[in-house]
Amino acid sequence: MLKELVIASHNKGKIAEFENLLAPYGVKIYSAKDLDLPDVEETGKTFAENAIIKAEALAEMCNKPCLADDSGLCVDALDGRPGVYSARYAPNRDFDKAMTMLIDEIKTTRSKDWSAHFSCVLALKIPDKKVELFEGRVDGRIVEQRRGENGFGFDPVFVPNGFDVTFAEMSADDKKKISHRGQAVEKFLQKVFNG
Ligand code: IMP
Repeated sequence: MLKELVIASHNKGKIAEFENLLAPYGVKIYSAKDLDLPDVEETGKTFAENAIIKAEALAEMCNKPCLADDSGLCVDALDGRPGVYSARYAPNRDFDKAMTMLIDEIKTTRSKDWSAHFSCVLALKIPDKKVELFEGRVDGRIVEQRRGENGFGFDPVFVPNGFDVTFAEMSADDKKKISHRGQAVEKFLQKVFNG
């Protein structure tokens, strides 16, 4: 049984989401920062490659089970960008700026199709075991006017299919029922805790 888990991230919003998702399972969660572990460079070309790179590097450093998440926003009109570069899309991870840049960029394509999806790949590396992957995806569209205060990153401009509200207007609990990360974590929980 998994008793402790290092989340391979320094992103506070992401760590908070993982704490919320894993709260019922009594797992002690550490962030990379809690253990003074460095940020690992994301040199992969896919979400899966990056998640594996991060999980394996951290597990090697701390010899504890590590879970890495690589996720991002893929916009159809931008041929799937920013994709794996979502976190690095705006200078200094300024997401306010990132949303402005994203809307401006979509407008310059003159596309009427603002559909997009979030993808998430989780990599679990338990020392001396093979890395395992869990994936999730949520489809939706980008809206020009940002709405809502919750969540992080591009949440205020993303409306999931079947809803009128943005991710930032949903509670953390409602977001996790449908989000890319919620789906990937659900698969991870099924495998590790049998649901
Ligand atoms: P990384 O997985 O740490 O490389 O970063 C993923 C980036 O994708 C974040 O910094 C956000 O820009 C974006 N992203 C991923 N998941 C979400 C989400 O649930 N809401 C909003 N933005 C997200």
